[in-house]
Order: sequence, then C-alpha cells, then structure tokens
Amino acid sequence: MKKTVIGIASSSVKYNGQESSILPISYCEAITKAGGIPVILAVAKQEMAEHWISICDGIILSGGEDIDPFSYHEEPHPKLEKTKLERDQFEISLVQEARKKKVPVLAICRGMHVLNVALGGTLLQDIESIVPNCIQHTQKASSETASHSVKINKNSLLFSILGLHAVRVNSFHHQAVNNLAPGIKVTARAFDGIIEAIEAMNMEENWLLGVQWHPEEMGDNFQMDRLFAEFIKACNQGK
Ligand code: MN
Repeated sequence: MKKTVIGIASSSVKYNGQESSILPISYCEAITKAGGIPVILAVAKQEMAEHWISICDGIILSGGEDIDPFSYHEEPHPKLEKTKLERDQFEISLVQEARKKKVPVLAICRGMHVLNVALGGTLLQDIESIVPNCIQHTQKASSETASHSVKINKNSLLFSILGLHAVRVNSFHHQAVNNLAPGIKVTARAFDGIIEAIEAMNMEENWLLGVQWHPEEMGDNFQMDRLFAEFIKACNQGK
C-alpha cells in the first residue's frame, strides 16, 4: 500500500538574501513517527492549492505569522504582528480545496486560525488587550513544556482521541479564534475562556481538527502521538 502523504504548509522568509521556505522539522518528525510521509508545501499561487490537494492524503496547517485581518474583513489592531497575505491566501485556498475533496486537515496554532478564517470565522487580534484577566498564552518556558490547562468538551472527536477531560499544553499565541465559522464547533478552552481546539461538526464528512497548542513540539507525549496517529488514520480512509 502507498504510504500516506501529508502536505505541510510552510512559511517563507528571507534567508541569505533569498525568499526561502521554512518549517520547523518537528512537524515532519511527528508525521514520520505516525507512519506518514511529510512533504513540505512552499507558499504558492492560489491555483497551486488544487494540485497539492490532488497528491496529498492529508494537510497540516503549521504555525507562524498573524493572519492579515483583511481576510476576515477587519482593520489591524495596534498589537497585530507581522503578516504575510500571500501565505494566508494560499493556505485559505488549501482549506477550500481540502473541503471540496474531503481531505483531512490538522490545523496547528496559526493553522487553526487559518482554518476558521477560511471557512468564514474571525479572530481576536490580541488576547491580552481584549480579554480581561486572561492567562499567559505566550509562554516563556521551552516549547516541550506544558504551561497551561485546557478543558476538553466530552462531545468531540478530540475527547475520544485524547481520552481526557483536561490536558496541559504548551502555548505560543497572542491571537485566538473569535467568531466560529459555520460548521465548526469549539472542543476545548483554556480556563480564561480562550478557544484552544475546534473541529468540524461532522467529522465523518470532512475531518477538520484545529488545536491552538503545538503537539509536534511536546516531545514523547502519549496523547499527542495519538492525535497524529488518528490524523494519519483518517487520511488513510480517504485514500
Ligand atoms: Mn493557549
């Protein structure tokens, strides 16, 4: 049987004076460990999304820059950080093509924001200046350290994958999902109410799961390994 091919969206930054694709290797390692073949997707014109989706069994939307609020019809908040509209538009197209072809999407950190925006949702542009009494979501601890807890809704695929009502996760985001896109539900929240995971209301129809934390950075973690394993399983079913 052909191995499961997972396209992982990357960022582009200037390196040695040239625009270059970058992706933390931990994403590739997590997919390899789960039995898939990781393929790094360079930021490209929107029409490339259709071609990538036709050769990938699943897509990971990775972390990175803030999303240009233009994509969800808002003006920039003063605390908005660096954005890259070309990347946003390419990844939004990936989500739209994945929807058409029922390709599973695991959306991580910024990726979860992309998933929500691509389907018609909005974001909180800066948690600390908008949400009173919020906890720390941009941890100073190293990335394998779980720094805050999230409560998981029982009625979710995430709950059946992790088998836990609460889990401790790492946290590297100053933005969050605000209004949910149609067809998407919240499956986990931090204790300050910030949305920490989302998924499609109908996972049978199209497996779309977003987590606000970085499971690929959490080292040898049984629950996070299960998350990647279940993602690969869903991708295999669609092959
Ligand atoms: Mn968080």
